[in-house]
Amino acid sequence: PGHDEKKHIPFAELQRILLDTPSAFKASEWSKYYTAGPHLAGKNLSQAEWTRDRWNEWGINSDIVAYDTYINYPVGHRLAVLERSKSKSKPKSESEFESEPVGAETWRVAYEATLEEDIIDEDPTTRLQDSIPTFHGYSASGNVTDSFVYVNYGTYWDFEDLIRANISLQGKIAIARYGGIFRGLKVKRAQELGMIGCVLYSDPGDDGEVTEEKGLAAYPDGPARNPSSVQRGSVQFLSVAPGDPTTPGYPSKPGVPREPVDGAIPSIPSLPISYAEALPILKALNGHGPQAKELNQYWTRNAGLGYKGVKYNIGPSPDSLVLNLVNEQEYTITPMWDVIGIINGTIPDEVIVVGNHRDAWIAGGAGDPNSGSAVLNEVIRSFGKALEQGWKPLRTIVFASWDGEEYGLIGSTEWVEEYLPWISAANVAYINVDVGVRSPTFSAAAAPLLHNLLYEVTALVQSPNQTISGQTVRDVWDGYIRTMGSGSDFTAFQDFAGVPSLDMGFGGEPAGAPVYHYHSNYDSYYWMSEFGDPGFVYHRTMAQILGLTVAKMSDAPVVALNATDYAVALKGYVEKVEEKISSSEVELSDDAAIFGFRARTAATETKGDPKAFESSFARLQQSISEMKAVAVQLDAKAAKLAEEASEDIPWWKLFKKLKLFHHIRFINTKYKNIERAFLYQDGLDGRPWFKHVVFAPGIWTGYAGAVFPGLVESIDNKDFVNAIRWVDIIDSCIKTATKTMK
Ligand code: GLU
Ligand code: CA
Ligand code: ZN
Ligand code: ZN
Repeated sequence: PGHDEKKHIPFAELQRILLDTPSAFKASEWSKYYTAGPHLAGKNLSQAEWTRDRWNEWGINSDIVAYDTYINYPVGHRLAVLERSKSKSKPKSESEFESEPVGAETWRVAYEATLEEDIIDEDPTTRLQDSIPTFHGYSASGNVTDSFVYVNYGTYWDFEDLIRANISLQGKIAIARYGGIFRGLKVKRAQELGMIGCVLYSDPGDDGEVTEEKGLAAYPDGPARNPSSVQRGSVQFLSVAPGDPTTPGYPSKPGVPREPVDGAIPSIPSLPISYAEALPILKALNGHGPQAKELNQYWTRNAGLGYKGVKYNIGPSPDSLVLNLVNEQEYTITPMWDVIGIINGTIPDEVIVVGNHRDAWIAGGAGDPNSGSAVLNEVIRSFGKALEQGWKPLRTIVFASWDGEEYGLIGSTEWVEEYLPWISAANVAYINVDVGVRSPTFSAAAAPLLHNLLYEVTALVQSPNQTISGQTVRDVWDGYIRTMGSGSDFTAFQDFAGVPSLDMGFGGEPAGAPVYHYHSNYDSYYWMSEFGDPGFVYHRTMAQILGLTVAKMSDAPVVALNATDYAVALKGYVEKVEEKISSSEVELSDDAAIFGFRARTAATETKGDPKAFESSFARLQQSISEMKAVAVQLDAKAAKLAEEASEDIPWWKLFKKLKLFHHIRFINTKYKNIERAFLYQDGLDGRPWFKHVVFAPGIWTGYAGAVFPGLVESIDNKDFVNAIRWVDIIDSCIKTATKTMK
């Protein structure tokens, strides 16, 4: 392909460029740029253009891809506690009677929430927020008034506890704390149980040791949560399907037919609030209904407002004490802008995609998502430097700056839906960085095929935090890799297109780290430079990790996936399901112990024969051990070929050794197709968009991944007829994967 051999950049040289180029100073400049003003989904064209222009300047051919998407923007809101006055005496002042006309004149406003975060002098970002009221993405407009109930985290299981305790929910407003599961699923369950509104607040108890109660100052004076901080966020019903809810499975191009949104987004209104503003509401419940501690341990864990006088009574509040919740949203169809940059490789059908979202709920977003945006820019600038020196990747690299992630992974999902045939044929891996940095602790979720790569790459990068000099990120990281759930832009790649994906960042939550003000105005440049990443050194480190990950994926002649790890992981998942069969209380998600995720439904009726299911289930172990044997062989063959095609030979010399080259291509195609084998075209029960039989967001967790979701849900529902059907589906996927690798 016309390359000058003298210009060959050996991998070691590329690695040096990718380690040396990223700059902490430049990352801080990009962070400052993105966080200088509101950039909500569909309202950030100038940032999309700026991003495209920078990438082009750095030598990466880039353009904007637009989708017409259905989303909401906030118009107004109100939250007040109203109390029916008992005395007939005249009000002391007129303002005491300023309540909305919600009932008889005898109602008085006992508490009116501001629904605003405090402005902080030191933090200029906090002055920019005025134009965006606190709200939830995809929330329903409404004006509801009724008594209210404290529902703990609002998980499926918390609601089951309430039902068992005979708490009346119908027609009431839920007040739930954030945490544990995706917020939209809290609203979903409240709605299903006949509740008419939902308020979500951030309990400081969930911040662990870093709280004002423990004597630490709140932001900006210290690391604890600012009491006025509010977590915005989407309340779409994520586990049904991500993306534009009016176009499930196909791209939102202008003029496409649209489907009704019922079932995909809430029909009851909801609002996010701070703990300062939750206090009067929770305190109003004191003395009403049972106390949380009378239920079970999941209800008192991390409940952190006791020291402020909250007794965590569940309620409901009496008829004379109600909440008025007003949420006014404007729904519209509006363009969103993905920026797509491409470095063409030579091999036509092996493509690496790397992405980060650009849209944020707030003016800032220094952590979410723009630490990732700053990192991605530094990576692209570094690859630009390599291009300048004559480097050209073996595989095509696609960089993406997604829009609309916050509302429901929209930019990435629509793009995957549009390019599905190409992605299916050519995409080898997807690498995601959402929050690139918010703490000093590296954290990752990945498909098993990519585990090994992640260990290799983190071992090549120095940790900014070393107790012994020379320690790499790998050395100080516990090495734990989560399974792929949802909550960021890898979802369409992994679950819809069957592309092995990786999501990483310094996003762990080590004890004692400053509280990260997620989706709050205080996720600002000032917070990042004072608390999150002073000096932006972790930004630089993250850029080094991401750059090397992409380089290994794009330039290693033999594709950097490990098949044995997949077989080993599957074996582990099967063992977990076996445990689950013997005890219905065992859950497969990491957060189970904390949030009390138990069997999904209270199904009383058993369908089919559990014994027949158990014997059919045993088959999976057999198929997996066959898969493993073939995988071990494939990996061994790959290792041998990799040695022959040493990365330091100019790869186009491989074209002269045609036989070796073809052999490598043949092997790479096998690797590329392994993950695809686990797609089931009819999808999961009740959510056909999700096609992966091994990984999906838990149907009632959202963020945390479920393994073998179709199977596990059937077991939870005691439907063993369907469970056997899922064993057959999974078994045939495993066999297809094995055949692919042979
Ligand atoms: N990452 C966003 C969140 O956690 C969006 C998740 C989604 O809607 O899928 O709120
Ligand atoms: Ca769509
Ligand atoms: Zn994000
Ligand atoms: Zn976010």
